[in-house]
Amino acid sequence: MRFIDSHSHLADAVFDEDRDAVIKRAAAAGAAAVVCIGASLVDAARARELAAQYPLLRWTAGIHPQEAGTFNAESDIPALEALLDDGAVGIGECGLDFHYDNAPRARQHEAFEAQLVVAAERDLPVIVHTREAEADTAIMIDRAARDGVVGVLHCYTGTLGLAQRALGYGWYVSFSGIITFRNWTDLELLRAIPDDRLLVESDAPYLAPVPNRGKRNEPALVVHTIEKLAEIRDVSPAILAERTGENAERLFRFTSKGVAT
Ligand SMILES: [Zn+2]
Ligand SMILES: [Zn+2]
Repeated sequence: MRFIDSHSHLADAVFDEDRDAVIKRAAAAGAAAVVCIGASLVDAARARELAAQYPLLRWTAGIHPQEAGTFNAESDIPALEALLDDGAVGIGECGLDFHYDNAPRARQHEAFEAQLVVAAERDLPVIVHTREAEADTAIMIDRAARDGVVGVLHCYTGTLGLAQRALGYGWYVSFSGIITFRNWTDLELLRAIPDDRLLVESDAPYLAPVPNRGKRNEPALVVHTIEKLAEIRDVSPAILAERTGENAERLFRFTSKGVAT
């Protein structure tokens, strides 16, 4: 099967020992591309470096809500823009996380809003992380969509309502290995996302799908998530992989960013 891992953290130090092997295994499993997410400015610079080294990788730049505690718009936004100038395919991950609450909520709002403004100005897609922050996320997405911003709700575990709201604005929804866990029960959500708005992701090194649950995750393991999602949606894994790959290419505009495909 041919697939795209739309969200992985391959710049994470946990891959420093064997990143080459991880990327080789991704390609061998059928990955046509892996989007390497920049979750902070430092992380994004590292993702940029890796993408220059490995043709399989695309990269993004953003400030994760858990990194928003020290957010300073005056210095961080110009630094983010400088990274984006170097060929990032999207802004993120950014968003709101009221589960961990690692950063004050006001600061999370400020960082997310500032990144949505940059996305509108630059016509770049956003990768949105939302956890236990649905009402606030909905308000932010409403406003961004009015400015023409399109994006993806990544590693989505929220309500069908918020997903449909985002879909109404032309957004995408991405599922991770969480959907293979035994305690995942929301099959309606997995069936409700239209074929042309569905993405898959590893979110590696986190959230390895069954049968690797609890171990370090890597992009090659997305095949388990694809197989599970295909079973629930009653399509062949190969077709689901192909469609979600096309969706990722469309959202991140791989071809129009001057990046080889
Ligand atoms: Zn996330
Ligand atoms: Zn992530």
